[in-house]
Amino acid sequence: MGLSSLHRQSIVEKLKNTHFDLLVIGGGITGAGIALDASARGLKTALVEKSDFAFGTSSRSTKLIHGGLRYLKQLEFGLVKEVGSERAVVHQLAPHLVVPEKMLLPLHEKRGFGSLLTSFGLKLYDFLAGVKPEDQRRMLTKNQTLHQEPLLRKDDIKGGAIYAEYRTDDARLTMEIIKSAALHGSEVINYCRVLKFIYEDGKIVGARIKEELSGEEFEIKSRAIINAAGPWVDELRELDKSKLGKRLQLTKGVHLVVSREKLPIRQAIYFDVEEDSRMIFCIPRGRATYIGTTDTNYEGSKEEVVATSEDATYLIRAVNQTFPGVNLTLNDIESSWAGLRPLIYEDGKSASDLSRKDEIFESPSGLLSIAGGKLTGYRKMAERVLDQLIDRTFPERELEKCETHKIRLFGSNFKNYREVKQYIASIEALLKKNQLPDEYANYLVGNYGKQTDIILNDIQSGEADIELAKAELRFAIHHEMAVTPLDFFIRRTGMLYFDKPRMMRVSNAVLLEFKMLAGWDQIQFEIQNRSVESSISGVTSFK
Ligand code: FAD
Repeated sequence: MGLSSLHRQSIVEKLKNTHFDLLVIGGGITGAGIALDASARGLKTALVEKSDFAFGTSSRSTKLIHGGLRYLKQLEFGLVKEVGSERAVVHQLAPHLVVPEKMLLPLHEKRGFGSLLTSFGLKLYDFLAGVKPEDQRRMLTKNQTLHQEPLLRKDDIKGGAIYAEYRTDDARLTMEIIKSAALHGSEVINYCRVLKFIYEDGKIVGARIKEELSGEEFEIKSRAIINAAGPWVDELRELDKSKLGKRLQLTKGVHLVVSREKLPIRQAIYFDVEEDSRMIFCIPRGRATYIGTTDTNYEGSKEEVVATSEDATYLIRAVNQTFPGVNLTLNDIESSWAGLRPLIYEDGKSASDLSRKDEIFESPSGLLSIAGGKLTGYRKMAERVLDQLIDRTFPERELEKCETHKIRLFGSNFKNYREVKQYIASIEALLKKNQLPDEYANYLVGNYGKQTDIILNDIQSGEADIELAKAELRFAIHHEMAVTPLDFFIRRTGMLYFDKPRMMRVSNAVLLEFKMLAGWDQIQFEIQNRSVESSISGVTSFK
């Protein structure tokens, strides 16, 4: 058994009875990356997450491992170089989960950048990121651009460009890093909230934790604490009475999902919106296409961030202007999500202009907080904050240097991307034999990598699609600490976002299986059932 939600109590006991070197707060990509790096260097590490792993921003991004082309416009060369170069590294660490995705950038007659500037900008982007010659940008004529994507509006296209990016699933990436951290010795647990800090002589020495499922409170003792709580970073700095100087500014980003039939683009596209010149993505994924994002200042609840009808109408309008034949309406939206960017506030800057660079804040109590940054840069952020921590707190210890560029993530034992494709082909054949749609092969391998074998070997006899979902659930409970059905439908499988029809087909059987495995009574079953139903309607009810 891996990280099983049925063994939570034994993890809680270890958390109570161990004196840790490092406690990481937050099970998003930043905290996960820090826990993996710290345990690989030899620090005795614990990680606590108040909700589910990747509950915050790390399941609500655009799901790209990208260099951030638009940051070139803001002259953030250092950021583009770092995250751009990281793309290839993270692809190596999980080639099934971080997959190459060519991006089409259409150029317009009356707006946006000229061909020459775009050609130079993309060349610089490739250079900074060290992109291999065969993957470097290619400029297109008007005809080539329209051939590449016939749905584009024809009257104002003057050409285009194709350049290299990578697509991922943010929550799956976070989960695999969490599991790798546990494999390297970290004690990790979800649904455990930091309530307050414990001090001795003004220095932080631990935290009081609430186990959210049982309500039990306990203490974790640790020589150092890193606050990687994303949009909640400032709340913890307030608890530590150290929210002085720089602070966070949260901006909301919304994504919509429609079926691939409704928006049948041939490849990922990054285009500027006619009315305000902002850039947005349309990205095909399996049976769906997703569209995003917005970028607006946010001050509401961090626990429940939703898309409004204004957000949805803006994105639909942008798509219809760019692809005039598709005529999307709000009724075509199958799903949506909204996330918060934890950015560093700067006087007089608008949401879109704020830097995406990460920053580390050190408080007099010793609490280190890290915020800002990108999914793509998680490894480098971890390296930086741990180098600072080790210099300060563990100078006497002979610890390893950062090695995470060599640590392959769970399910990633592929030599290269070609092997991933071969494996997908072998899974397709197996699915056909089991009366399952062969297009599930891409989904399964993209989600689980080689762990697909564990799931397929566990399929019981019965209706194939339902039995597959139940085998996925058992994997999520026994190996990935899924505690609620929404952990499963949102962050372990992405089904609520990308395959709502399948979710509706299998949800009853999944809930009954969950009831049996977790030992819920009928009241708990009803509560979980209602939360699944309200999430299904919630993703399309824009207020
Ligand atoms: P989070 O993922 O929010 O994790 C913080 C965690 O801390 C949460 O899970 C929370 O529950 C937990 N927590 C809070 N308080 C406590 C407590 N008291 N006790 C215990 N746990 C606590 N980056 C890219 O590289 N590529 C992209 O395509 C991209 N697109 C984006 C699109 C949008 C709309 C947004 C909003 C961001 C995007 N980003 C992208 C940025 C990226 O998603 C974030 O930088 C990253 O996910 C932040 O991760 P995090 O771990 O710092 O925060």
